[in-house]
Amino acid sequence: VTKQIAPGVHEMNVGGTSAFLLDFEGEVTLIDTGRPGNVDKIWSGLAEIGRSPEDVRNVLLTHYHIDHIGCLGPLWERTGASVYAPAGDAALIRSGGMIPQMESRGLLGAALLRFIKPAPIPAHEVDLEAADGHLLFVAEGVQVVATPGHTGGHAVYLWPQHGGVLFAGDVCFNLLGRLAPPPIGEDLTRADKSFVKVSQLDFEAACIGHGSSISKDAGARFRKVAAGLTS
Ligand SMILES: [Zn+2]
Repeated sequence: VTKQIAPGVHEMNVGGTSAFLLDFEGEVTLIDTGRPGNVDKIWSGLAEIGRSPEDVRNVLLTHYHIDHIGCLGPLWERTGASVYAPAGDAALIRSGGMIPQMESRGLLGAALLRFIKPAPIPAHEVDLEAADGHLLFVAEGVQVVATPGHTGGHAVYLWPQHGGVLFAGDVCFNLLGRLAPPPIGEDLTRADKSFVKVSQLDFEAACIGHGSSISKDAGARFRKVAAGLTS
């Protein structure tokens, strides 16, 4: 059920959204947690890479959407992992409740928006708020980059090892080989700006929530798309 994207970085399909295992010196960090009701997929992924739930120390969330925080509750109950959430999205994760309205673009965006049923997200404690520019003490250092737009506080995480591994969340979609800023979000103009900001970072691999992750030359692919947005 897992696919290696970079050394120590493994992708899992957790109910239709990708979540990632970062296995560094025996300590596992999970980036996002997939859709609700699929925590078994996470346990299977851990078993496949030779790790157990007890090895999970940290959970890094990219944003508060249910398809990214869906298994946080059961995951935390079993692992007691520290929960990191983007500073701008942390309040809604703590309180739970309805997410703000989103806008869409294109046929895909319109279809996705129709498909999403408005439902409150469950409340969960957050141990650490990850603010723009923070270096987290995870896997010898993971950089936080605020990328608002898809949600008000969306953030991506850059692990500088192995040429750079970007945990992109929904700062982009890569469906059917088409890398692009997200087709839905609270503010799509800001989402485009955040995509351009991310394209200026140094990374070889990109771990993407929706669509294919990219193992090689990911930064170059982002820059190519960003050039089209700013021209
Ligand atoms: Zn999302």
